[in-house]
Amino acid sequence: ILTVFSCHTGTKKGANTASTETPFDAKVDSLMDIMTLQEKIGQTIMYSGGWSVTGPTVSSNNKKFIKEGNIGAMLNVYSVKGTRDLQKMAVEETRLGIPLLFGYDVIHGFRTIFPINLGLAASWDLEDIEKGSRIAAEEASAEGIHWTFAPMVDIGRDPRWGRISEGAGEDVYLGSEIAKAYVKGFQGDDLSKHNTILACAKHFVGYGAAQAGRDYHTVNMGDDELRNVYLPPFKATVNAGVETFMTAFNELNGVPATGNKFIFRDILRNEWGFNGFVVTDYTAINELVEHGFAKDEKHATKLAIDAGIDMDMMSSANRLYLEELVNEGQVNIALINDACRRILLAKYKLGLFDDPYRYCDEQREKEVIYKPEFLEAARQSAAMSSVLLKNDDKALPLDKNQTIALIGPLVKDKENIIGNWAAAGDRKGKAISVYQGIQEYLDDSKIKYAKGCDIEGDDESAFKKAIRVAKRADKVVMVLGEDYDMSGEAASRTNIGLPGRQTDLIRAIRKAVPNKKIIVVLMNGRPLDLSEEDTLADAILETWFPGSSGGYGVADVLFGTYNPSGKLPVTFPRTLGQVPIYYNMKNTGRPIPPENPKEDYKSNYIDIPNTPLYPFGHGLSYTTFEYSDIELSTNKIGFTDTLTASVKIKNTGDYDGYEVVQLYIHDKVGSITRPIKELKGFEKIFLKKGESKEVRFSLTAEDLKFYNNKEFTVEQGEFEISIKGTSDFNFEQTFILE
Ligand code: BGC
Repeated sequence: ILTVFSCHTGTKKGANTASTETPFDAKVDSLMDIMTLQEKIGQTIMYSGGWSVTGPTVSSNNKKFIKEGNIGAMLNVYSVKGTRDLQKMAVEETRLGIPLLFGYDVIHGFRTIFPINLGLAASWDLEDIEKGSRIAAEEASAEGIHWTFAPMVDIGRDPRWGRISEGAGEDVYLGSEIAKAYVKGFQGDDLSKHNTILACAKHFVGYGAAQAGRDYHTVNMGDDELRNVYLPPFKATVNAGVETFMTAFNELNGVPATGNKFIFRDILRNEWGFNGFVVTDYTAINELVEHGFAKDEKHATKLAIDAGIDMDMMSSANRLYLEELVNEGQVNIALINDACRRILLAKYKLGLFDDPYRYCDEQREKEVIYKPEFLEAARQSAAMSSVLLKNDDKALPLDKNQTIALIGPLVKDKENIIGNWAAAGDRKGKAISVYQGIQEYLDDSKIKYAKGCDIEGDDESAFKKAIRVAKRADKVVMVLGEDYDMSGEAASRTNIGLPGRQTDLIRAIRKAVPNKKIIVVLMNGRPLDLSEEDTLADAILETWFPGSSGGYGVADVLFGTYNPSGKLPVTFPRTLGQVPIYYNMKNTGRPIPPENPKEDYKSNYIDIPNTPLYPFGHGLSYTTFEYSDIELSTNKIGFTDTLTASVKIKNTGDYDGYEVVQLYIHDKVGSITRPIKELKGFEKIFLKKGESKEVRFSLTAEDLKFYNNKEFTVEQGEFEISIKGTSDFNFEQTFILE
């Protein structure tokens, strides 16, 4: 094999570009020297094996393409046997024996399912999120998976959008920190290990801003929102070394993402210096035609590769048209070389050329899948993700000596509890229901169960039994929510209330037992409109979809073994009419004094206040935390100084517990206006009852940077600052940047 060094990336390096040299460059070059154009194109093509839990159902066509060297990657194939058989075909039956890359949506766990991502974000626990994605990588890699299509780092500010469940919520800072934690967890510290997998930052970019929360819909946004809100979590993944990016389905300002040079070439490659490869979303090249951006699929193929896309997921575009486009001189062959090189490089980094079967290991599969310690970790994550939205009169925790009425369609559920994107996660079988979790704490004689109603539908005939059961118990716990497939992809809703007759059921029970405590436990994939539930229930515990060990984790919270510490990563509106509503909003020329929410000619509604039902950062504990005033190391800092802000926090209640301490600032005047509040730091601390701790944050000018429609800048001026346990507060202190 000839070794020729022909490095041409086709792009110029950005200012902060890490060295593009890798120990594998020479190997990739010599391999590419003997590859035909068709074989190079083959590397840029990915097909699906067809979503089967029992084994792949790979079509004969795809097998033929593999043998011809015309497929570089497969998705939705897993299990040791499934991946090994196909890998064998690629390695032993093709001319060059280049191993396949196996990708899969490992989103919130692989077999052991963790809470949905919005729930994980509610833990604000970066270590736990990293640990969970490490576990997911352990399991997936043991079943032949090399690459996950995660994390989804799209900012989500519209609860109608079903995929808000897959992200980290509405905030730039929290979202960026969480994005890094996922990448570290999946990719580990060394990709050549057999238990680390490639991560993929998706969907680039703006997908969460789909108009009216309708999935795949149009996105129009200016530089301020794009640069200051939607791009930073992606940049954070690049900084964390993410190996791949996925395109978004939506258009951005008239240009569909999959054909968008500005975001892929100008920003991702040139500005950020990203060296990994870019994959399209599922059939997204074909969709350029439907968008009205390409006249036919051949044209779409050219637009995508020109825009900087390296791999085609499921469009067949590269397979059908790329060679022809090169031969006609319409596509520069250098672009195909670049794409092929990046994909081969990933395969080298994973060690697939040393041992293509290193990820297919029966022994490891047996050892790691559903390992007890993984299920235990999922239990802890479920507890940490739960957010106590309301708890009047100490309705929670439950008392082991009392009789509990357990009512609702999700009490015994083992299907919805693992949430969406959990195809490998044994839906219905392995998961622990809330009922089972509660059985760990209560004798069966103390549990009175009634389903009450279905999640959807109009049938109230089972209300009667539920009411009877409620009357026979000391307290009522109702487990309610959405079906798992009411959120996730293509699952946007225009009504964000509890579906079916569930709210009626709460009302009926409240009427029947007016003096008993009613605790509502929720499972859902988005912020819901809970205005009425909030008036009916004494306590509300948001558990999202808590995963395989969800029932245990939720019961741990209900009985106080785990004192809830989750905080909302996304605002819960009072009504859909307020959407989009998020804490990080801008002021207007007509701000409303909080004491006078209905003043005339202000930027408000005439029917309800501007405030949400539950704000971002909100989450109660069984104990109480008292924050002392914030202390600043100085009131004035220069551009190279560090400001230290500290507070003392005291656990003043009756339980030990965790608290998520949040630092917010407000840049009062800017060359473009700045949000009224911006999270700039947080720390999760543990305090025994009666204990106090000081929490310190450091801020530098770098933390105050923003994009002012021309460049990233830090501007002199006055800033407000506070440290609290929620975003709902008035600022107390200021400092000057001079
Ligand atoms: C989704 C992606 C996902 C891909 C592969 C698409 O429909 O938008 O997020 O990774 O399918 O399953």
